[in-house]
Amino acid sequence: MKTAPIVAGALRLDQPGFEGLPYAPAFGDVYHPRAGAFAQARHVFLAGNGLPQRWRGRRRFVVLETGFGLGNNFLATWQAWRDDPQRPAQLVFVSIEKHPLRAADLAQVHAGSQTPERVRDLLAAWPPLTPDLHTLEFDHGQVRLLLAFGDIADWLPELVAEVDAFYLDGFAPAKNAAMWDARLYPALSRLAAADATAATWSVARDVRDGLASAGFTVERQPGLGGKREISVARFIGAHRRAAAPPGRRPAPRARSALVIGAGVAGAAAADALAREGLTVTVLERRSAPAQETSSNRAGLFHGVLHPHDGAHAQLLRAAALRTAQRLAGQLGTQALPGAVAGLLRGGGDDPAEVLQALADRQGLPAGYVQALPADEASRRVGLALPRPQWFYPGGGWVSPPALVRHLLDAPGIALRPDSDVARLVREGGLWQASDAQGRVLAVADVAVVAGALDGLALLVPWHPEAADWPLGQQRGQVSIVPPSLASDLPKPALPLASGGYLITLPDALGGGLLCGATSQRGDTDPAVRTDDHRRNLARMAELTGQPVDPLLAEHPALEGKVGWRLAADDRLPLVGPVPADAPARAGARRQEQPRQVPRVEGLYLLTALGSRGLTLAPLLGEVLAAWICGAPVPLAASLLDAIDPARFVARAARKPA
Ligand code: SAM
Repeated sequence: MKTAPIVAGALRLDQPGFEGLPYAPAFGDVYHPRAGAFAQARHVFLAGNGLPQRWRGRRRFVVLETGFGLGNNFLATWQAWRDDPQRPAQLVFVSIEKHPLRAADLAQVHAGSQTPERVRDLLAAWPPLTPDLHTLEFDHGQVRLLLAFGDIADWLPELVAEVDAFYLDGFAPAKNAAMWDARLYPALSRLAAADATAATWSVARDVRDGLASAGFTVERQPGLGGKREISVARFIGAHRRAAAPPGRRPAPRARSALVIGAGVAGAAAADALAREGLTVTVLERRSAPAQETSSNRAGLFHGVLHPHDGAHAQLLRAAALRTAQRLAGQLGTQALPGAVAGLLRGGGDDPAEVLQALADRQGLPAGYVQALPADEASRRVGLALPRPQWFYPGGGWVSPPALVRHLLDAPGIALRPDSDVARLVREGGLWQASDAQGRVLAVADVAVVAGALDGLALLVPWHPEAADWPLGQQRGQVSIVPPSLASDLPKPALPLASGGYLITLPDALGGGLLCGATSQRGDTDPAVRTDDHRRNLARMAELTGQPVDPLLAEHPALEGKVGWRLAADDRLPLVGPVPADAPARAGARRQEQPRQVPRVEGLYLLTALGSRGLTLAPLLGEVLAAWICGAPVPLAASLLDAIDPARFVARAARKPA
């Protein structure tokens, strides 16, 4: 998806003729009528969609709104959900907004709100205004708000969701024709669940005709307080709609999952599946979770900035924002050491103004990334840094083993250590994982392979090409400087990252410094090497601008740890259903898009997170769980194609025959 900088919404409360009403000068229209935003939300959007009655008896109910605006419809719907004893377990509210408000404006406009607690929670979770699909969770994750910042024309084709109720609320068609463009209606039809409804205060002929052309029956109902009329619509066109492409079909009847691998990827998948209501068994060959690559004492999560905002940068940004949301408020305890207090990344030799101009050109806000001159960056970390830095306010660090334990320690998840899966077979519609002796370790509706390279061998009987996927293992050695050796070394108050990284460890993790990591493709040596310690110490000197005695590399008290990270040639992870055993046929036009590739039913993958496991895993676990369960997927469709393991089949199909 091509991204464009987000321009924040501007509103006025003193527009002549509309005094006291929030007015959008850019559109020449008000955000809500004088009768009140909540009154409109309840009458037009909730009642117009048959709510709350229609959501009763459902596990999940999905709303899609065009125009989040001030969030009044969301707040009113959330409140109605809370007030309803027969509410569904999960309310997912997807909303598209081209001009989201800045947090301060949102706070001002809701100063006298009818739902102050909801407003407080919304403000606390309000994301930086980046062109992404942001996930915000409330009420212990039972209410999920997926906010797509950008133009509706760009976002509608990017949504993967089955929608139960549409709220069409995008300023009057006469004042904002772009929102009601003819492409809107086929998109509604594509996204509509079989019994979907839609409502809007507009009775414009084009709107009613558009809905009818998309398979809705439309009727007029009395407007607010009996004034004017509104349109309500019911979807009756499901039979005319093409089936979802094979790569996007969920397994919504799945009640149980087995997950192979208890590292960060497996734990994130298990956590997200359990939150979707599945019973999850996690099989781990070692005697405890997070023993392999996820066993480092600390690791980082943060976004990136690329002059070309491609799939890699977009994915890492969306994921970093999600990790920060997910972990904020939970880190920093004895059980879960870490912090979301920002981190610094070296920006090279360019002055801070040149760096900031790059962020500005992409419209990336300060809440996501800022360029800091060397003196300001130095002040923040308490060191004399030689060069300007990028500051990522939502970046941070966490102890991977503690995070894995935290994610797995949840209702619905059973961890089975010492369970070395040698074979995955499908019997009677269920997946069976067994060990080398043929003992069945677990049986479930769906199986998720979340180990590293060894795990991929389990896929080969199902998709032989998996053996040839362009993946590589990178050896990484970290150096841990104990407090006894660290007294003269620079200890940054925030993590530093650039090529390598440096983290000051808290006492709970033994204190001292963690510095890493080397990156050696194809190197299989498990031994801790003095040479690699030397490289890490040189990196420490480079990151901090202070000399570090290279002889320290030979000190017996210096600790090291070696791990391997799996990465694909395009540096993107592998997430999604495993392609079926149909050989990739060059010139097979129908498979040129990953989503068109047929799949093995119920077999999924979450792996190849490279050195970005902590950044990627929380979002990707949720993406996979939504993909499996048929919930709205919290990632743009074009990014789903980019991470789909079927991309290798699609690549082969694109080659000329
Ligand atoms: N539903 C909102 C609420 O509950 O507060 C009010 C929505 S307001 C009437 C319409 C919103 O649509 C505005 O916030 C506007 O920025 C947004 N909008 C207008 N054109 C858009 C477009 N092309 N794509 C996405 N959003 C758009």
